[in-house]
Amino acid sequence: MPAATKRRIEKNLHVIRDRLAEACVQSGRDADAVRIIAVTKSVEFDTIKHLLDLGLTELGENRAQQLAERAAQLDAYLGRRRTPLPAPVRWHMIGHLQRNKVKTVLPLVTAIHSVDSLRLAEEISERAAARGLSADIFLQVNCSNEEQKFGCAMGAAAPLADMIASLPHVRLTGLMTMGPRDGNPAGTENAFARLRELFEELQKEVAVAQNLRELSMGMSGDYEIAARQGATLVRIGSALFA
Ligand SMILES: *Cc1c(COP(=O)(O)O)cnc(C)c1O
Repeated sequence: MPAATKRRIEKNLHVIRDRLAEACVQSGRDADAVRIIAVTKSVEFDTIKHLLDLGLTELGENRAQQLAERAAQLDAYLGRRRTPLPAPVRWHMIGHLQRNKVKTVLPLVTAIHSVDSLRLAEEISERAAARGLSADIFLQVNCSNEEQKFGCAMGAAAPLADMIASLPHVRLTGLMTMGPRDGNPAGTENAFARLRELFEELQKEVAVAQNLRELSMGMSGDYEIAARQGATLVRIGSALFA
């Protein structure tokens, strides 16, 4: 990988970290309240090694097949790597997941961010049970007013969260949303504020609140807004690699 590319990614990361810290402090949060998931869907495998060197060990992919391939590649690489990592690598499944792919990704990921139906959550719970574990899942909510293909409707989120929280082998760990596609700042702020309000409401419900601690919102174009609105995880791809 060319040294110039490495330096560019490192510089981008500094800018992102600075802006996240500033947005957090401005809104009365700890400067390090937001963690970065590096979204690797559009980069070569070599770039992932560089991310690890920069201390980015939380990685995200949006397709099951590519996640599985990369997780395997990374395992092989980590077996050869001499320098220790600052933290273990953790894969996040952030894209739409079909039920027949659950068994592929479940053994590989730390969390699935894109659960938007009871049937999918049930499938995950059953597969997790068969493996003798509980899976961390996020409920994906469609908070913008525009049509989006994925995510449950805002009004359906609370009852769905209740049902999901009662499944035996999943832990409802977080909520996830995508900002509006048009990127309008006011609309984005509004969408993220709505997810935070839902998050705060659900945290008052004993049966649902137990494991609920993460807000996954914000991407390259809107991570500062997300940080101001309470995100704990931002999912960033192009702003790192541009
Ligand atoms: C690709 C993707 C991201 C990252 O998008 P960028 O705009 O490149 O930062 C975040 N979340 C999901 C679900 C994605 O598919």
